[in-house]
Amino acid sequence: MKAISKMITIRTRSRFEIIDITAEVEKIVREADVDNGFVLIHEPHTTAAVTINENDPSLFTDFINIYTKIAPPNGEYEHNRKYMGIPSEQNAHAHIISSLIKPSVVIPVINGRIMLGTWQRVLFIELDGPRTREVNIIVYY
Ligand code: ZN
Repeated sequence: MKAISKMITIRTRSRFEIIDITAEVEKIVREADVDNGFVLIHEPHTTAAVTINENDPSLFTDFINIYTKIAPPNGEYEHNRKYMGIPSEQNAHAHIISSLIKPSVVIPVINGRIMLGTWQRVLFIELDGPRTREVNIIVYY
């Protein structure tokens, strides 16, 4: 199996943010000039995630409202305790939500086209921003 790999950088602006990266994925698949295979979108972070869903800002607000009900940022977590007197990053909520959503998605590429449904978009989910994030987009064929 062969692969073409590209990395994109995302600069997030707030603690929670959902960013549509479909155009970047489509561009990389187009430039790969692959007929049939699949594309893996993978973010190498423990406090972010990727998913496929609709690009609708009101839905993004709903997602974040539900995520923070599951793991409230101001909740009590072992991960957030001081370690040897040093305050830790207050981001246990982000690790927990990230582990539920997952760091990667795979999409088929058929006849050079990424097979997303009409309303499907590739979404990067920031859970502990603002940060500079990387996303690897790997086309296998
Ligand atoms: Zn942490």
